[in-house]
Amino acid sequence: MKRLLCLFSLLLLPATCLAADDLFDIKPVADGVYAAIAKPAYKVNCNAAIILFDDAVLVVDTHSKPSAARALIEQIKKLTDKPVRYVVNTHFHWDHYQGNQAYPSSWPAGVEIISSEATRANIEQRGIPRVKHEIVTMPREIENLKSDLDKASDLGQKEQLRANLLQAEAYLAELKSVHVTLPSVTFDHSLILHRPSKTVEILWLGNAHTNGDVFVYLPREKVLVTGDALHGWTPYMGDSYPFDWIQTLDAAEKLDFDQVIGGHGDVMRGKERFELWKHYFRDLMDEAAEAYARGASLEDAEKGVSKTLIAKYSGKFDPGFPKSVIGNIAKAYQVIAFMP
Ligand SMILES: [Zn+2]
Repeated sequence: MKRLLCLFSLLLLPATCLAADDLFDIKPVADGVYAAIAKPAYKVNCNAAIILFDDAVLVVDTHSKPSAARALIEQIKKLTDKPVRYVVNTHFHWDHYQGNQAYPSSWPAGVEIISSEATRANIEQRGIPRVKHEIVTMPREIENLKSDLDKASDLGQKEQLRANLLQAEAYLAELKSVHVTLPSVTFDHSLILHRPSKTVEILWLGNAHTNGDVFVYLPREKVLVTGDALHGWTPYMGDSYPFDWIQTLDAAEKLDFDQVIGGHGDVMRGKERFELWKHYFRDLMDEAAEAYARGASLEDAEKGVSKTLIAKYSGKFDPGFPKSVIGNIAKAYQVIAFMP
């Protein structure tokens, strides 16, 4: 009956009846360690890492909304009957923490949400206002999608826009009822869980994508979870510290690991991606500094610097790189302009 109902509603409302495995691909990474790789969505979900202890589970990051976290919880229940007792928020961005409430509500006996002290403060002081801002601005985004849908003539494009519209409406409705759930355990530099079968090191190694990013490191399994300090897409730099980020990646790279679960994109092997990001940040900052020293306007810098960076890097990042790089140049210009 449930299936019939689901089938029926699937015909009416495709976006509201997604099965759990429609949101994440679960990939075994090491013994008792899984990557939940988020499938593409209009409002992105981050990846999660799932770490099984003898008597409990630790999950890294909670996606953009509680329903996405609940979808992952259903997947986790297929892997183990142990309760989730620890959740880590790698940083304060919306697509990594807004699903927090799903965990304590699924295991009311006790879930500790762990983050750096900076990330907890960021969620409280910057995350919550951003949720409120999004509730106010989403209706315009939805109107734009509707007008794009009216104008679209290509069938495939229409279908995509219709799916996006449904997701956007469902997201806004859910966002209005989100109860922002702050981390319950915080630390300055490191917090280590010593469990019989696994040791998990949660490490703040310096400013990077934000001032609060943590890495989750499993020394025995040689797995590193990096949040958005390193992932498979183009780095988003809006709240970042570009020069510190290079140093922080250097520090992370010194750890002994074989596999990396990033905040977005597929599981990565080795340290190649660390080198790519560091080179990219150095080139970005050098090129932007040169343009700034020449007295180029931001607009001119965006044009000139993006040309150089696209030629060098577009094949190495995701297809959205030419667009994302513009935002990164604006950030670089801002950082350089305020340098002493
Ligand atoms: Zn993210």
